[in-house]
Amino acid sequence: MLQADMERKPIVKQCRGCAKIDGDFCSVWVSPPTKWRLGTCPTATHVKVEFHEQVQKVRVGQQKQKKK
Ligand code: SF4
Repeated sequence: MLQADMERKPIVKQCRGCAKIDGDFCSVWVSPPTKWRLGTCPTATHVKVEFHEQVQKVRVGQQKQKKK
């Protein structure tokens, strides 16, 4: 994943506590600020990713379905 020809950018404050920190850099991403700008870093080990499932109401036997 890491591209050698790209300049690595230092970790950001949101990275604190992550197991992927390698000195001042991230061992996974070239640019940690970019990962956090788009939301929570997808490979952060210290942040629990929460999924907000949409609760879908399923009506059974209450409505007749239209014939196609
Ligand atoms: S994996 Fe994500 S949170 Fe962890 S150091 Fe890298 S950019 Fe930061």
